[in-house]
Amino acid sequence: MSIVVQGVSKFYGEQKALDNISFEVRTGEIVGFIGPNGAGKSTMMKIITGFIPASSGKAYVNGIAVEDDNLEVKKQIGYLPENNPLYPEMYVREYLGFVASIYKTHSSGKKQTDNIIELTGLAPEQNKKIGSLSKGYRQRVGLAQALIHNPAVLILDEATTGLDPNQIVEIRNLIKEVGKEKTVMISTHIMQEVEAICNRVIIIDKGVIVADEEKSKIYSIIKRHRQVIQIEFDKDIVESSLAEIGNVRSVKKIRNNIWMIEAEGDEDIRPLLFNFAVKNNLTVLSLNKQETNLEEVFRHLTSG
Ligand code: ADP
Ligand code: MG
Repeated sequence: MSIVVQGVSKFYGEQKALDNISFEVRTGEIVGFIGPNGAGKSTMMKIITGFIPASSGKAYVNGIAVEDDNLEVKKQIGYLPENNPLYPEMYVREYLGFVASIYKTHSSGKKQTDNIIELTGLAPEQNKKIGSLSKGYRQRVGLAQALIHNPAVLILDEATTGLDPNQIVEIRNLIKEVGKEKTVMISTHIMQEVEAICNRVIIIDKGVIVADEEKSKIYSIIKRHRQVIQIEFDKDIVESSLAEIGNVRSVKKIRNNIWMIEAEGDEDIRPLLFNFAVKNNLTVLSLNKQETNLEEVFRHLTSG
């Protein structure tokens, strides 16, 4: 396990930001840590990276308890903090050389800096001031400083927030590329990010984990809970008669004879709808099951 979090809670004064959180990230995984603003993502990441202490519970990185050996943990982690704080007056190459010197990496600082500039595509910008770079390039500098000591674990807090669509694609590709050889935990409030990069999803809401699944399996969570069907009959019907079927939760008339039906539970609602049609002497002209996307899973799990 690269990251182990056991029963971590965090209070800011009276306010509880994390409530008894536990999860693990296996070596080589790219995990999306997703939740609405204020859910506790940044707080959790700051605890894993040793920048703030937990109020209770423990976090481990590669088997080391963060509170026991904060420095060793920092060596094993590359961390891109939220809002990517950088020194605007420093030059890109100067800054990265400075970061490399802090870590006292095995290979020479210069070689390490060269490698990382190459890897993150910063070569054309390396002699510019950080403050003069576009947001996309500043984000590359943030990634470069996180990667410079070749850490096994990468913690990226909202790595693509505030970037334009092209920059988002570029940074995601870069994360995917470097993520091939590392364990990555990336926080986001954007579901597409998870779809694009991750193989596992942890959803957090109000300091509590509400889902922790392989990306491919997370769809089934919502399927167990919610089915949305659009159905067209040949004749008009009374709305209330539809609402009486099995696990139907809501019924909405879309147009003449076309209904949007939302149902809950394990049982497939479609056969019930066909039976309903037969019983009421109706013909089903069309029936479409809406595919649930991650966005809906997310909204479903974090609403209210
Ligand atoms: P996220 O990164 O998911 O948006 P945060 O971890 O930043 O969430 O915040 C979780 C909760 O803790 C929020 O309610 C936020 O207002 C609160 N919080 C975060 N940092 C502090 C702080 N330094 N002092 C007080 N409250 C904080
Ligand atoms: Mg945050």
